[in-house]
Amino acid sequence: MQRRGKPGGLMYSPIEFIVYAVIFGLMCALVANVKHRRWTDWLVAGAFLGPIALVAVLAAPVGDPPGCVPCPHCRSAIPAAATVCRYCSRSV
Ligand SMILES: [Zn+2]
Repeated sequence: MQRRGKPGGLMYSPIEFIVYAVIFGLMCALVANVKHRRWTDWLVAGAFLGPIALVAVLAAPVGDPPGCVPCPHCRSAIPAAATVCRYCSRSV
């Protein structure tokens, strides 16, 4: 059986494709986890989109830390149990 595509071209064998999908999926999930974003979403995005998803997650803003909600007045991340915002000093 002949291999389709020329060496170094854009045609990957199924094994190469799976290896790249796993590598990019794990890299995207790792970056997303560090940035407090949903790593499961980025795992799937990285597996399907590869380097495009990696660039996107690196460019994405850092998400709210776990247990935090945005202040209704200034949108800063504050603990969910807070009664006064530490940034704008208003009651929440
Ligand atoms: Zn606030």
